[in-house]
Amino acid sequence: MNDRSLSGQVVVLDDLTRSFEQGGVRIDVLRGVNLAIRPGEIVALLGPSGSGKSTMLQAIGLLEGGFGGRIEIAGVDASRLGKDQRAAVRRDHIGFVYQFHHLLPDFSAIENVVLPQLVANKTHAEAQARAGELLSALGLAARLDHRPSQLSGGEQQRVAVARALANKPQLVLADEPTGNLDEATADRVLGQFLELVRGEGSAALVATHNERLARAMDRVVRLHDGLLHEGLPEATQLR
Ligand code: ADP
Ligand code: MG
Repeated sequence: MNDRSLSGQVVVLDDLTRSFEQGGVRIDVLRGVNLAIRPGEIVALLGPSGSGKSTMLQAIGLLEGGFGGRIEIAGVDASRLGKDQRAAVRRDHIGFVYQFHHLLPDFSAIENVVLPQLVANKTHAEAQARAGELLSALGLAARLDHRPSQLSGGEQQRVAVARALANKPQLVLADEPTGNLDEATADRVLGQFLELVRGEGSAALVATHNERLARAMDRVVRLHDGLLHEGLPEATQLR
């Protein structure tokens, strides 16, 4: 194993493995994944459906156990941490965006962005100000008091983006963040997402099966047969 601790990276994966039992058969979804993400770097995670993108994001997000290898987040070796400490690393350093917005339906847009900040011990005034800023930057200044059900799909995802960035995470994990949107809306929301993440200086790992969207990011990595490869597939690099 390489020793890349003290590396100043936001994420270091060293020989990450994960297997599942399906109907008595063992499938090795991740077979030794290595990856390092620098502060502020925006990385696209490409791979077809079923290649293990969500599994990999769950590992990095410290959401699930059962992984082999080493996961370092913001210089902390998370593989050595207990459940509560993992939750603390997650809260302090990581923001999540999913394919479906997962907003709290009974709370307004701004409340959905305020709440995670209160959990992180911000004052209500600070949290309101930050939420208003983020939502305005995403073009939602006129939608602050709307509930999720009163927003379009693109607007819901933009609120989810604001929520993910609310606590100024060093790392944003996005799992097919525009996968539920039509192409034009997906392009617009992804563009706003990338601009905001860049402006905030967060690093991001964005799972997508869409090569076109992946090209908008700083670097592309691809999951294939349980291993991670750098760059777009060769055939498409030539285009
Ligand atoms: P992707 O996000 O790239 O579509 P996933 O990470 O969701 O891929 O899934 C990768 C493989 O792992 C799939 O074959 C899937 O069926 C399997 N898998 C994922 N989660 C589980 C689980 N909890 N139990 C069993 N198999 C799983
Ligand atoms: Mg997935």
